[in-house]
Parts: sequence; structure tokens; C-alpha cells
Amino acid sequence: MQKPYYYNLVNKEIWHKKSDSLFAKIQEYFKALGVDAEERINQVKNQWKNKIDSKLRKKFQMTRRMKEKKETTSNNDDHPNIENSKLKIHISNKIPPPVIEILKKLSSAELWVLLHMDFLKNTSFLLDKINSKEFLLNTIINYFPKKEIETVKSFLHIIDSKAISSADEALNEILKCQADVLGAYFIDYGSIELYWVVIWLTSKRLNCQVEDLSIVILIHEMAHLYSHRGYDADSNRWETTRFKDTDTKIIEGIAQFYTNEICLQIANDDFFKPLEIFKKLKDCQSDDYKCYQEWISSNNNKKRLEIIRYSIIRSRSRDNLKYKEFIDLVHEGDKNLFK
Ligand SMILES: [Zn+2]
Repeated sequence: MQKPYYYNLVNKEIWHKKSDSLFAKIQEYFKALGVDAEERINQVKNQWKNKIDSKLRKKFQMTRRMKEKKETTSNNDDHPNIENSKLKIHISNKIPPPVIEILKKLSSAELWVLLHMDFLKNTSFLLDKINSKEFLLNTIINYFPKKEIETVKSFLHIIDSKAISSADEALNEILKCQADVLGAYFIDYGSIELYWVVIWLTSKRLNCQVEDLSIVILIHEMAHLYSHRGYDADSNRWETTRFKDTDTKIIEGIAQFYTNEICLQIANDDFFKPLEIFKKLKDCQSDDYKCYQEWISSNNNKKRLEIIRYSIIRSRSRDNLKYKEFIDLVHEGDKNLFK
């Protein structure tokens, strides 16, 4: 099985390659549209990273900081303790390679439609009638200032229903990627990046606020960090090479499991809906991001957390852990902990 991009993150340069020219092209549109997603996502990060950190610490019952005594006995492992104490989370202008591959297949008209998708979709009745270009022209034109009408008209003349469906298809494809593309956890650096362009695009597809979506992505990536670097009471953690060799489905499933637990805990109301957006996003994603739902049927959150912790602790001592073996550990945990 080919390893997904997720595991190639040893070298950030590979992950970031070729994203600049596409970003520059898209940025022109963003300027015209007045998109302020980068700033808004940055605010979410600043407001939430420490709160999420403390929630994850409690849920995992693990800490990102190694105890003093273990620090001195640390062998040639690749993470000095000092690195562990600071959360390295960056809001990035980059676009991950799987998303570049999808976007570069689009024509200019399709890319334009993609970037204006929320505007097109907000006139909800429009998509049903999109087959009529005349209808589109007559309707859409009312929403633009007079001075922009000519530009818009020239764009709309090249747009047809195919452009709309291609743009829609591209967004679906982004969500179906077999790798984290809205954010990334860099295993060998212990750092996290959130890709604001991809988050912004996805928020259009999910019809949600970038704030709600970015908090979900932040929790998911930080859950990867805890799974990998979380130390238990005996100062043991998931060794990096083993973590990399573990079945992706386990790694993604664990991150999703904890994201769900934290979204359940955070207040959700009419204005702030991380849980709703987490569910919406997950339903559009590949199986790796949904599998955790089949692990435990209990409604008792303490029980769920105990069983997954039991399974994680045991997983960390296994080489090349496969999904089936992890599921066996989950069942074993259920049996041993709750007789
Ligand atoms: Zn992930």
C-alpha cells in the first residue's frame, strides 16, 4: 500500500513545493473578494490553542512535557524536551500537494466559480436552475455594483453548468483526500500548520463559518500531536518510527475520536457549532476519518476514553500495527476494564 502524503512530511519543502504560484493566482481573487480568512483563523488559534491543549491533556491523560528524570536518560530520540513545551502552530499560505493536483485541473472559469461558490450557493434556488445561462446572468447581475457588471458579465459568459459541477466536484475531491489537507501535523518537527486557503474553500462547501471549521481542524491536528508525543505517567510515549509505521486508519481514527470527544464538550449554540461542523465534515471524508465511530458503542464518555487510552498504550509497543490488531485491542480493553 502506498503511504499517503501524511507520512512524507519529514521534509516540509516537499510538502510545500509548487504551491506559491497557485497561491499567488488565487490571492488576486481573494483581494478582490475581501477574504479575511487568514486573520480569522489566526484569531481562533490564539483563542483556542491553550484551551484545547488542556482538554486534550485531560482526555488522553498524558502530557506533552517529559518528566525531568526521564529527560536525562533519553537516548537518541529526536525530540529534545525543551521543544515539547511550546506549541508550534502556524497559519500557512501554502496549499498541500493533493489540493494543488485537484485545483490545477480546473480551467480559469472553473476556478473562478470555485472561489465564488458561496455567493452562487447563497442564492440557493440558483443551482437548480443553473442550466439556463440567461437566468444565471439576469439573476446574478443584480448582486454586483454597477462598475463591476461588465467584468462579471464577461466571466459569466464563459461559465456554464459544467464549470459549476466541475468546481463542486473539485471541492468534493478535496474533502475525500486520503490525507490531512486542511491542516497538517509534521511528525518529525512536532509542529502543526493550518492551511487557510483550503479551510476557506471547504467552509464554502460545508456552508459554515471559517471559525467553526478551523477549530475542528486545530483539535484534530493537536490530537495527532498528543497521540504521538503524549507522555503517560511512566514517561513513555509512541516512538516516532513506530508511529509512522502504524496503519493510517488507526492514526486518523484516534485523532477523530478525540476531536469528537472535545467537540461534544465544547458548548455548541446557534452561533458556535464545532460539533455540527465536525460531523458535516466527517460525513464528506474518506473511511479513515469515519472508522472511529465503529469502535465503541457506549454512551458513557469516561468508558470510551478509558478503552481508547488502554488501546493506545498497548499499540505503542507494537511494530507495524495493523487496523485489525487495534480493533482487537479495543475489544480487549472493553472486556478487561469493564467486566
Ligand atoms: Zn489527521
